[in-house]
Amino acid sequence: MDSDFDTALRAAGLKSTAGRVAVLEAMESMPHTDAERVYRAVSAVLPTTSIQSVHNILADLTTAGLLRRIEPAGSAALYERRIGDNHHHIVCTACGAVGDVDCVVGEAPCLTPSSAGGFTVQTAEVTFWGLCPSCQNAA
Ligand SMILES: [Zn+2]
Ligand SMILES: [Zn+2]
Repeated sequence: MDSDFDTALRAAGLKSTAGRVAVLEAMESMPHTDAERVYRAVSAVLPTTSIQSVHNILADLTTAGLLRRIEPAGSAALYERRIGDNHHHIVCTACGAVGDVDCVVGEAPCLTPSSAGGFTVQTAEVTFWGLCPSCQNAA
């Protein structure tokens, strides 16, 4: 059986395995997900999966460019399928909810440092912090 996930895995130079496909499938409906939640979703489909193998798969998929890993301060590493567009994140300081923020202005890197110290700048990664709508309502 050939799926988009098989194709994506092979295009990234990875072997298509049941575990990798299950992780990609789970990530489709769960943006910004930590390994623990990915594991729970995957083990519903593949009961023999271990948390360690999910960690390994997430690392492999991130290295291959199929997942993006973000790590807001104070949070576990989160993974998402939305890759390669230099988008930013907004994090709720109360509940940790994470939202996507498109490029701040125009195209990547969309922010110009006041001084880059001779570096060429390819991307900029910004984390905005605030209160999500439901935490504002609760306050
Ligand atoms: Zn919140
Ligand atoms: Zn995102």
